[in-house]
Amino acid sequence: MARGIWAMGKPFEKITVIGTGTLGTQIALLAINAGYDVTIYDVREGAFKEAFERLRSNIQEKGIEPLIPWDRLEAIKTDIREMINLDEAVKEADLVVEAVPENLELKQKVFDELGRKASMEAVFATNSSSIPVSRMEESTGRPEQCLNTHFYNILEGMNMADVMGGTRTTKDVIERGVAWVRSMGCIPLTVKKELLGFCFNRVWRAIKCEALWMWGNDYVDFRDVDRAWMTFTKMKMGPFGIMDTVGLDVIHAIEMVYYNESEHLKDNPPQALMDKVDRGELGVKSGKGFYTYPDPEFSLPGFLSP
Ligand code: NAD
Repeated sequence: MARGIWAMGKPFEKITVIGTGTLGTQIALLAINAGYDVTIYDVREGAFKEAFERLRSNIQEKGIEPLIPWDRLEAIKTDIREMINLDEAVKEADLVVEAVPENLELKQKVFDELGRKASMEAVFATNSSSIPVSRMEESTGRPEQCLNTHFYNILEGMNMADVMGGTRTTKDVIERGVAWVRSMGCIPLTVKKELLGFCFNRVWRAIKCEALWMWGNDYVDFRDVDRAWMTFTKMKMGPFGIMDTVGLDVIHAIEMVYYNESEHLKDNPPQALMDKVDRGELGVKSGKGFYTYPDPEFSLPGFLSP
């Protein structure tokens, strides 16, 4: 069935998204917008509705145009089929996208269930930010049908996704993943062999890691890094402002993943970052991180004055 559709130019027909929090909800909306048949499943009732409302207020607060206009999102979201039974949710899917929280054991458990409940032809994609699919692929029993499709905050304008195979993913599955990403209006960033952090995450991390190292070892004032970045790129905030938006606890946890993998001292996040987390200075969500919120210094007139 799936091969027939692929031969006609469409990589998949029926897509099921598992976990409809921040990212799963955006993936489901994007897929329905692109004309796929979409089913969603979450262990928590009302998760999709909550995430949709959160997305709306985030986008409104930031004053940005969503990738798909709100009136269209409102209209198409009713076409998404919400299921409370996992067997029913996945039995007809030819692509199952996992977007549950970033926890290896949980993801392996979900992949194991999916392997038992989905059809033999189904492709399994994970939206994990840091876990290569090779760490979950065996749980499905079909490692050649597993891949990473790592989407960013698409509807907020970051319409791109890293696509990466595991140890045995077939060329056909990678090509279908790439075609699927593209068909939904996202730029595929293909990673040719397994790499922790994929493509763009590593670019962003190189900047983040260097900025933290300079600040943590007291070489520079973090504001100057942001001033330089904002002047150079014309962006509205610099690396420290962006880290505050992501959350300093999340930043610290991600840095530890890289450090634990490489054990290079330069990858070890500075103690000063951990101290901030311990003091509850988590960034935008706690009202204080590198900057204080609302109205952080970098958004005030004069921040970039000579
Ligand atoms: P989230 O916490 O917002 O949503 C996760 C959802 O999964 C929740 O609604 C939860 O109820 C549900 N869930 C938990 N266990 C489940 C299970 N066994 N079966 C079905 N549903 C289950 O998480 P998120 O931020 O959307 O992140 C999801 C994945 O996407 C993670 O791997 C994360 O690393 C990745 N990611 C997140 C972002 C981001 O900015 N939030 C960006 C890129 C990638």
